[in-house]
Amino acid sequence: MEAQKARKIVIAGGGTSGWCAAAALARHLGPLLEITLIESDDIGTVGVGEATFPTIRTFHGILGLDEREFLRATRGSIKLAISFENWARKGDRYIHSFGVNGKSTWLSEFHHFWLAAKAAGFGDELGDYCFELQAAKAHRFVTSENSPISYAYHFDATLYARYLRTRCEAQGVTRIEGKIGRVKQHPETGFIEALVMESGERIEGDFFIDCTGFRGILIEQTLKAGYEDWSRWLRNDSAVALQTDCPLDDIPPYTRAIAHDSGWQWKIPLQHRQGTGHVYSTAYTTDDEARKVLLDNLDGDIRVELRLLKFLTGRRKSAWVKNCVAIGLAGGFIEPLESTSIHLIQSGVTRLLRMFPFDGCCESLVRQYNEQSRLEYERVRDFIILHYKATQRDDTPYWRDCRDMEVPDTLAQRLELFHESGHVFPDADDVFRIDSWLQVMVGQRFEAKSFHPVARILSEDRLRRMLETLKGNIATAVAQMPTHREFLEKYCAVE
Ligand SMILES: Cc1cc2nc3c(=O)[nH]c(=O)nc-3n(C[C@H](O)[C@H](O)[C@H](O)COP(=O)(O)OP(=O)(O)OC[C@H]3O[C@@H](n4cnc5c(N)ncnc54)[C@H](O)[C@@H]3O)c2cc1C
Repeated sequence: MEAQKARKIVIAGGGTSGWCAAAALARHLGPLLEITLIESDDIGTVGVGEATFPTIRTFHGILGLDEREFLRATRGSIKLAISFENWARKGDRYIHSFGVNGKSTWLSEFHHFWLAAKAAGFGDELGDYCFELQAAKAHRFVTSENSPISYAYHFDATLYARYLRTRCEAQGVTRIEGKIGRVKQHPETGFIEALVMESGERIEGDFFIDCTGFRGILIEQTLKAGYEDWSRWLRNDSAVALQTDCPLDDIPPYTRAIAHDSGWQWKIPLQHRQGTGHVYSTAYTTDDEARKVLLDNLDGDIRVELRLLKFLTGRRKSAWVKNCVAIGLAGGFIEPLESTSIHLIQSGVTRLLRMFPFDGCCESLVRQYNEQSRLEYERVRDFIILHYKATQRDDTPYWRDCRDMEVPDTLAQRLELFHESGHVFPDADDVFRIDSWLQVMVGQRFEAKSFHPVARILSEDRLRRMLETLKGNIATAVAQMPTHREFLEKYCAVE
């Protein structure tokens, strides 16, 4: 691959991915680069994507964002968890929080002790031993500098892009509004030389970041990276989305994911409104039926009308091709359950920063980037498939097919390991920790037959006391926190 020094950077697209990439590059490599971002007001952004994952706080630290300012600017709220409703069985509810379950020892994790207690006929729900989960349930939250609480945010995606844009422009990023009409490649190497606007203007660059969303104008339409289709596992291919008034006095610090007959519905509470949408598979229902399900399950009056989105779950076979990296929907889409897209954007941007091709796009660097990206996407994919596979629902063809599907070997091995031994060992590239795997497996009623024998060393009496103390301490700490609404009003309400 040709060594070409990257100095002039062109970001195609100004959604969450485009502005996240611009913000990080400008802040950390700004003096070394000339950064231009192109976006089209006519095309706009996908406009959804409002629930996040705790790693966003690290990314914001990298950008040097002030939390209060960011929450005010995006009318954001706190996310401690996701409440899954009707997933394992109709009428079931479990919470997957960002917290740690109980207290582990060096020899074995807490859940083995919990499994031992359950086998002996005592102990409460796994979630009773997790601080974040109990705080979410009680709708309570507080934070301070270096808070040990693991949390993320809900925010208005359009306001988020606007907020980042203001910062980027102040840091010297040039924004060009207009439509990219054509991509000009070098006739021999195939490297991208310039983006030619419909107006005829030519935007030249050394390195290009494709943030054009599902279109993938550079990475796919031009460089033909190829797409790995995951729809045999992740069947949803459509979503209808809208915004409603804020229905409740009390704002829950979690996303709701409510399973319906052929998909599921998200409910994301912000300070001033709720975002909601129904994600479904057109192999099992129609757009009209799905729209009706959404309209029948609203909490407040509609503020912004329906929007229909179509997608194919999977990932770009190579996120980096020649002198172009795809970030965001241009690089792949797993599906919105567990809100990992913005995490994958920010992780992709951070990886790019660490591997920035100042001295050219050499093969080994590109290979390394692509391999890390592949592993990251596959780990997230497996965790999302778990929610569908580990269902006991058999009331509709959609759920029966999910329950009966073959899953990737990597996931099948994890399920077998937990079922046989109670062990969960996430890989190094896994963004979901043991606690997440457990909360979801247990919540989905996927059972372990056994547990680590070390848990038998504690007498029943000591084990009982340990669990009671843990649960009591968590309950006391949670009761001392303000409600989430009180917190937002004091911390970041817009005057
Ligand atoms: C139903 C659904 C729900 C989701 N929920 C979540 C969630 O809760 N949490 C989460 O993390 N993620 C979620 N996502 C994903 C999230 O929406 C995206 O990851 C995020 O919005 C980033 O999108 P993007 O910037 O890659 O693309 P887009 O928002 O589509 O932006 C593309 C940009 O490219 C520009 N562009 C395109 N073509 C051209 C052209 N020819 N010329 C000039 N400019 C052009 C557009 O103007 C726009 O600025 C969801 C996605 C879907 C579909």
